[in-house]
Amino acid sequence: MTEDLAVRDIARALVFDPDDRLLLIAYEAVRPIDPARPEARTFWFMPGGGLEPGEDHVQACRRELSEEIGVAEAGIGPQVASCDGPFHLFRTSRFARERYFVVRLPDATVDTSRLAETEDNPVLGTRWWTLDELAATDERIEPAGLAQLARAIVDGTIPASPVVLEWQQTPLGTPHDGKPFPDAKPSSDAKPSPDAKPSVDTPHEDFRMFPETLKAGYRSFIDGRLPDEAKRYAKLATGQNPEVLMISCCDSRVSPEVIFDTGPGELFVIRNVANIVPPYETGGDYHGTSAAIEFAVQGLEVKHIVVLGHASCGGIKAYANPSAPLSKGNFIGKWVSLVEPAAAKAGEQSGPDYLTRLEYAMVEQSLENLMTFPFVRNRVMSGRLALHGAHFGIARGELLLRDPDTGVFSPAVDHEGRRLGPTSMIGCFKE
Ligand SMILES: [Zn+2]
Repeated sequence: MTEDLAVRDIARALVFDPDDRLLLIAYEAVRPIDPARPEARTFWFMPGGGLEPGEDHVQACRRELSEEIGVAEAGIGPQVASCDGPFHLFRTSRFARERYFVVRLPDATVDTSRLAETEDNPVLGTRWWTLDELAATDERIEPAGLAQLARAIVDGTIPASPVVLEWQQTPLGTPHDGKPFPDAKPSSDAKPSPDAKPSVDTPHEDFRMFPETLKAGYRSFIDGRLPDEAKRYAKLATGQNPEVLMISCCDSRVSPEVIFDTGPGELFVIRNVANIVPPYETGGDYHGTSAAIEFAVQGLEVKHIVVLGHASCGGIKAYANPSAPLSKGNFIGKWVSLVEPAAAKAGEQSGPDYLTRLEYAMVEQSLENLMTFPFVRNRVMSGRLALHGAHFGIARGELLLRDPDTGVFSPAVDHEGRRLGPTSMIGCFKE
């Protein structure tokens, strides 16, 4: 991800009139978008804009439509697509995190008299596009795949989960290759699949397709690991008996089963944003993490709980810097407010190592919070359960273990990176 661009959460709408035309705004790009035609700077974009503090996407979308096209209290339909990435055509480049919703207007009447004044960027006009015009045009329409998405929606197909679109890569005047969703993004570590097809023929099917990367992965599983582990799975079908509860972050790069090379039935895993254990409380809210801890400790009687923090944790960053990448006005903001006691331990909020210190402190805080659960405390005190802290460095795959006496995190392996070092022998969390 481009770290140095400001992250902007944005809501936009595919606004349709009763004739199934799509409303787009023409903007003047700050830079030429076709090297062959330096004078051509027009691009078309959906109405919408950035979230203001405290707003969710739907609220922002409704406000923007009121300001830009004079539609008050528009009914905001489902989110049908997203587009994340650096966007350089506006005056201020940004890392845009865009979410697109469907809005159907009762008629084609819009009032764009305030549009220019509400926009930082030069607006050239607005236009209702028929689907055929959209499909045929060589005008620059952002993002790529919008015409196909609009067609699918008009045909009655709302994607089960939002389609991932990307910004146009092609210069102005070069229509993309016409695939339904040329931009539907496989994950970056997609496994090659010998018979993977580039795309399907209609948007309808494309929407409903199970992600190719998962299909390829499952194919590899049933050809490889499953036969190897068939006996284990058969045995596990009657019940699980893991000895370790692992509490780690949702981050896609920090998968405990991969890091610890474990098979089925070995780890009971809780993953949440920033590997947070909330303090014990008995209020009536929905305590997903606490319920899973309760089941692991009381039901499965695990012998170890490991809290695994990690480098470059977005949840920790969200606490330390609420303006980016995630603001405090949402679920993340409330959740990461639990980082606050850790921040008090992490020392001064400065220096290049601050976030790392905060990641370590959050591991320690989660260990302390675990001890506020009576059933955890009882077992730890009677020697039936041990608590451990660890931290995973993504770039080099380095595992650090927390020394319970000093609170220092040290590498689990020696400098050769092969043999377990002395720290791997260290004991468990102590109060
Ligand atoms: Zn994280």
